[in-house]
Amino acid sequence: MEKLFYISSSSLTDEQSSTLLTCEGAYSQCGIWISEYAKDFEKAYQLTEEWGVSLKVGHAYFSKKEREKSAVLVSRGGGPKTVKHDWDSLNRTYDFSRLCPKCGMDKIQIDPFYLCSEPKYNKVKVYPLDDIYDVFFAEKEWYRQYLAPLGIESRPVMIGVKTPRVSQTTVQLVIHDVESEMNMTPYEKYECNACGRIKYSPKIIDFYPVPEVVPELPIFRSKEYVLTGLLAYRRVFITQQVWQLLVSHKVLKGWYWEPTILRMP
Ligand SMILES: [Zn+2]
Repeated sequence: MEKLFYISSSSLTDEQSSTLLTCEGAYSQCGIWISEYAKDFEKAYQLTEEWGVSLKVGHAYFSKKEREKSAVLVSRGGGPKTVKHDWDSLNRTYDFSRLCPKCGMDKIQIDPFYLCSEPKYNKVKVYPLDDIYDVFFAEKEWYRQYLAPLGIESRPVMIGVKTPRVSQTTVQLVIHDVESEMNMTPYEKYECNACGRIKYSPKIIDFYPVPEVVPELPIFRSKEYVLTGLLAYRRVFITQQVWQLLVSHKVLKGWYWEPTILRMP
């Protein structure tokens, strides 16, 4: 693992920024970044400590080996632009009655998704929606052949809105939410001023926590939500077996999944 440290430019004076950028390995990109392995990392760290504005971990990079040793892996969020779902139909897909209008937590899926047209497939056979990160779709045939035998359940996806029909090409993966909590101590917390509940920073800055009780399921979602503002999604976890399957078939880039603290026995 390589941790990249970060500080926003707004917390530094112009002179401090210039001084920091003289450290070997430091670079500017919407703030100033430096790797923990950079030659002048210690110097940069001490400088910011002296200024009372310490560097924080902004990102962590993991190796393939670290992913291969992880018993379960966690989704990063985001995803390829894949399918277009019908926005108005989200009122049918989700029960929004418990949704907090400030933080976006607690929408409950009660109906399938409605897509504008049948998705077209190439290599990517399993993917999250590009705007709802904790919902995954899969190509139906690929799902039947590889994911169903692992015990992953599916639900239908509808095509069209006025006269919807069941999709011939696509299914949604059923992902159970766990009730057990994760130790999110290292992650920045955002408390919603409307409902008082907590969301967490979506960054991945270390081997990711797992629920205290890890379910024996091939795919599951965290109790906790991440992201800021009106957006909220649960972390999706998959087992090493599912990850190997996705990677060996090159159906979703391996790096989409990050390693967790749960190591292979
Ligand atoms: Zn809220």
